[in-house]
Amino acid sequence: MTHPDPIDEAAELEQRMIEIALANRERPSMTFTGACHYCGEKVDKGFFCCPECKDDYERIERAQQHRKVA
Ligand SMILES: [Zn+2]
Repeated sequence: MTHPDPIDEAAELEQRMIEIALANRERPSMTFTGACHYCGEKVDKGFFCCPECKDDYERIERAQQHRKVA
């Protein structure tokens, strides 16, 4: 088999859309700028272009908060 299963591909795309939607849940502390808050990629809505950017952003955010407390 050289071609990917179109059904699997559609399911993967749907899963991806869900992950991005979750990554872009409302954040009262953040304002919409039209660009990913982590890498600067253009976004139509939300704050991140992909779940990975959200994870990396939150990791940095947590590290900064931790530094302020310490
Ligand atoms: Zn990004």
